[in-house]
Amino acid sequence: MIKITFPDASVREYEKGITGLEIANSISQRLAQEVIAASVNGETWDLTRPIENDATVNLLKWDDEEGKHAYWHSSAHLMAEALQELYPGIKFGIGPAIENGFYYDVDPGEGVAIKEADFPAIEKKMMELISAKEDIQRKNISKADAIRMFSERDEHYKVELINELEDGTITTYTQGRFTDLCRGPHLPNTSYIKAVKVLSSAGAYWRGDEKRPQLTRLYGITFPKKKMLDEYLVMLEEAKKRDHRKIGKELQLFAFSQNVGAGLPLWLPKGTQLRLRLEDFLKKIQREFDYEQVITPHIGSKQLYVTSGHYAKYGKDSFQPIHTPEEGEEFLLKPMNCPHHCEIYKAFPRSYKELPLRLAEFGTVYRYEQSGELHGLTRVRGFTQDDAHIFCTPDQVKDEFLKVVDIIFIIFKALNFENFEVQISLRDPENKEKYIGTDENWEKAERAIVEACEEKGLNTKIELGEAAFYGPKLDFMVKDALGRRWQLGTIQVDYNLPDRFELEYTGADNQKHRPVMIHRAPFGSMERFVAVLIEHTAGKFPLWLAPTQAVVIPVSEKFNGYAYNVIKELKKFDIRAEVDDRNEKVGRKIRDNELKRIPYLLIVGEKEAENEEVSVRKQGGEDKGSVKLRIFAEEVSREVEEMMNPEKQPI
Ligand SMILES: [Zn+2]
Ligand SMILES: [Zn+2]
Repeated sequence: MIKITFPDASVREYEKGITGLEIANSISQRLAQEVIAASVNGETWDLTRPIENDATVNLLKWDDEEGKHAYWHSSAHLMAEALQELYPGIKFGIGPAIENGFYYDVDPGEGVAIKEADFPAIEKKMMELISAKEDIQRKNISKADAIRMFSERDEHYKVELINELEDGTITTYTQGRFTDLCRGPHLPNTSYIKAVKVLSSAGAYWRGDEKRPQLTRLYGITFPKKKMLDEYLVMLEEAKKRDHRKIGKELQLFAFSQNVGAGLPLWLPKGTQLRLRLEDFLKKIQREFDYEQVITPHIGSKQLYVTSGHYAKYGKDSFQPIHTPEEGEEFLLKPMNCPHHCEIYKAFPRSYKELPLRLAEFGTVYRYEQSGELHGLTRVRGFTQDDAHIFCTPDQVKDEFLKVVDIIFIIFKALNFENFEVQISLRDPENKEKYIGTDENWEKAERAIVEACEEKGLNTKIELGEAAFYGPKLDFMVKDALGRRWQLGTIQVDYNLPDRFELEYTGADNQKHRPVMIHRAPFGSMERFVAVLIEHTAGKFPLWLAPTQAVVIPVSEKFNGYAYNVIKELKKFDIRAEVDDRNEKVGRKIRDNELKRIPYLLIVGEKEAENEEVSVRKQGGEDKGSVKLRIFAEEVSREVEEMMNPEKQPI
């Protein structure tokens, strides 16, 4: 017999060789129907894999990340099996589960293309294989046998992967006539999958290397219920409408030009206004929290990044150094602001009395991304971080964390991100030697972060072993209006850079000490944040941010003059307004400006002109009737004022 311990600490005895599925069955039939995979001593296993020793077992369902992962990975195999049936001779690359669904990179062969029109046939074949309820079987295989087996089928991509594996660690999974080189885990059989959709295809270089062959990456998604797939497809449609690249164009916020270069966004006047307003908002908060603004150059000597360690770690995959024509100097485009800020710290001898020193910069950085990976404003090659570095004593870490969390709260509230998750990444307690910094400082910082989150009542997930080698961190993930998760802000403790740059301060004891550095960027980058904001709001920005807050629509040419007077008056209240004096019908003008997501439309005709009024139509169609211009202006500026000062409201 073996002892199985469950997450609630209860223990049951089973016969040696029991499987996760059998354990589920012994508890309840319902559980057996819902369970997808089993976590055995922290590792995800197939439900049908025998457990030979005492173990801690957690039965995973659809709602568990790892369960979903196994489900979608099995679905990738299912799609591959269908493709093998439909496209004889097709070669397979890799096929992992991803955040939403899965993909498989395939090489359909010379002159064969898999197009959107082919997706229904693939889905049909997948459904057939589901009906066949094929068992998915795991097998250990020697390296020699694996190479022989995949060579015989001419699966040269797989052979390349096998060659890099260690003998004794190789497993295959087989269902029907399809066998894949795979670590697993997988569903017991294909019938667990109920609803399938092949979503899209894209080109993807083998192993991400543009010198290697280009494969076809087929994306798909599956669900245990047809209804879930339907809901997902509705969400996807809505997401398409909200795509920030589409809305960015419609609202003339940003553009890309091949002449400037891929991944280098151009901020148009309206987008720039929006961005500057966000920056001003952040700067104002920073001032209140005693940050000091600094400005540093866009390039830095290569040596600076050798010192920081960035060059050794990322140099090969970065933009290559810039050489001066005569003096043999080498510069790098700034990939991060931290080293520059360390040098600002070092510009003077520092005393403990100056700490915490908080240096903030909207610092533009450049990071090389393969052109195929670029995506609108979310994956770019040049972007501006809302960056700051806090230099403090180890004892100040907790207080500083609390303050940064406060800042992030203020921001999320002002921008209506009500749903967010927080992840604390701590070091792996079994592998302490992997990390730089003293045990004492790590413990202090980790405790500080956990306590700060508790004090703020944050709903946190703690991940052991997810910390960077140089310090623990806290990441904020927001959920947008469609329930999609976006990684935004991060707060990160760093013991490494202060060491590498030999930063010091003189303590109260008159001795030299090393400060702790905290990196923090609540938005992450202005580009990414604006993209998320567009998709979250569908381009209907909060009033205080909207590039144009009101459009005045004269009912006929006769009232253009009054319309321009209205603008002049609104300007006095800092309200951004325009006149739509096109020679169009009023109805048309209203529709067009609604599409531009203008918060207030002000219709003016004879009555309004006579009484110094505007007829107010709110975004969404609500008709507020005629209002004295002055009263409208006062109300709008009050609304903006309140939105911009959310810190004065209770959180
Ligand atoms: Zn696999
Ligand atoms: Zn930094």
